[in-house]
Amino acid sequence: MKTVGFRSIVLYILLAVFLGGVGLMVARQLLYGRQWAMQPYNMNLTGQMGDIKDRNGNILARSEDGERLYSDDGTVRLALLHTIGDTAGYIGTGVQSVMGDRLTGYNFVTGLNETILTGLTSGLDLTVDQYACTAAYSAMGGHDGAAILYNYETGDILCKVSAPTFDPAFVPEDIETNGAYKGAYLDNTLSGTFTPGSIFKVVTAAAAMEAWPDSWSTRTYDCWGSENIGGSDITCLNGEAHGTLDMYGAMGHSCNIYFAHLANDLGSEALQKKAEELGFNANLQFGDVTVAKSSIDLSGANANQLGWAAVGQYTVLANPYHMMALMGAVAQGGTCKEPPRLTAGGDALSKVIKPGRMMSPDTAANLKSLLRSDVENYYGDWLFPQGMNVCAKTGTGEVGEGIAPNCWMVGFCDSAQYPYAFAVVVEEGSGGIETAGVVVSAMLQALA
Ligand SMILES: [Zn+2]
Repeated sequence: MKTVGFRSIVLYILLAVFLGGVGLMVARQLLYGRQWAMQPYNMNLTGQMGDIKDRNGNILARSEDGERLYSDDGTVRLALLHTIGDTAGYIGTGVQSVMGDRLTGYNFVTGLNETILTGLTSGLDLTVDQYACTAAYSAMGGHDGAAILYNYETGDILCKVSAPTFDPAFVPEDIETNGAYKGAYLDNTLSGTFTPGSIFKVVTAAAAMEAWPDSWSTRTYDCWGSENIGGSDITCLNGEAHGTLDMYGAMGHSCNIYFAHLANDLGSEALQKKAEELGFNANLQFGDVTVAKSSIDLSGANANQLGWAAVGQYTVLANPYHMMALMGAVAQGGTCKEPPRLTAGGDALSKVIKPGRMMSPDTAANLKSLLRSDVENYYGDWLFPQGMNVCAKTGTGEVGEGIAPNCWMVGFCDSAQYPYAFAVVVEEGSGGIETAGVVVSAMLQALA
């Protein structure tokens, strides 16, 4: 009896180990099968990935004889690298990585590639327009940065470009050692953050509108080009004196001293709170991709630091995707109604945690009127295709002594025909309009 008892215990243990092992295997398959199957290096095991096309049916990537091939046009390959992804899978935010299971037809229940069973290839039809992407990339003139534009009515992302980039068909041999490719695996639209400079005045203005709903537009401050605020100077660009300004004049001239005073009258808590309501310090989610946080921390800031933060300096950082969504919200009465997306179906990249209501409809209408005034009275409508009714703000984020600034333009078209919101940042440029405005113009021309 003793021996039998011992044997049954051994059998029970073996059974438990076996069942545990099976359970672990199933769990691993469920948890990791999808990631495993979507790795580009598994293409030979999981079958070929399907075609990726732009909104007009242009082929951006396809497979032939087990090899991944990209567009025949070299500029398209460079401009769309970060949206599509590379063959080795280093660009983790590209659709070939994030939506690899869709492209290989991998079924996580059977663990089989459905394309082997059915002979069908699963493809992806993206919302991007390859011409808008190449136009933006070319207009960036070899500078690093990001350009992103979406249709705020439908959510379709039409343009998404990041630089530095490389050709996925001819990966440079010195990619790991050549400084020109530093950060090339990173999609700056989703994973980059940059000093915003004057585009942040939109946030400071929104805080003022909500603090003083009846008097924000008539409140004035004097600018003499430079002023000691909180123990050190706040200066305007090139030391230019702007005189007595109201909010419209201050936004149009991009007066730092006006906004530094405004922020000190508001207080750091009000500015911090409004910035957070507008999506700063929030984890925005773009499908399976966590977007890099725009950030602001005014705790302990003195009057001078608060003044610089109000004009997008100090420690403030902004992410291009977030800035674009914020502009979409201003265009739509204060809420980003349709989450930005890259494909039409109910896929990973269209599941976005939507920022809720960011501002009141009144604030959105007031910001729209300010941003429209910038283009109409200061930048010039001639910059953009006719009838687009562009509303925008430029910025030059100073990043350090001897380094040319980050040049920004963010905004939207107040137009039923062209419901586009955008954010462009170009590193080491010469100015908001000259450097980033040109990229916005090129994108809009391509979509006109
Ligand atoms: Zn000024």
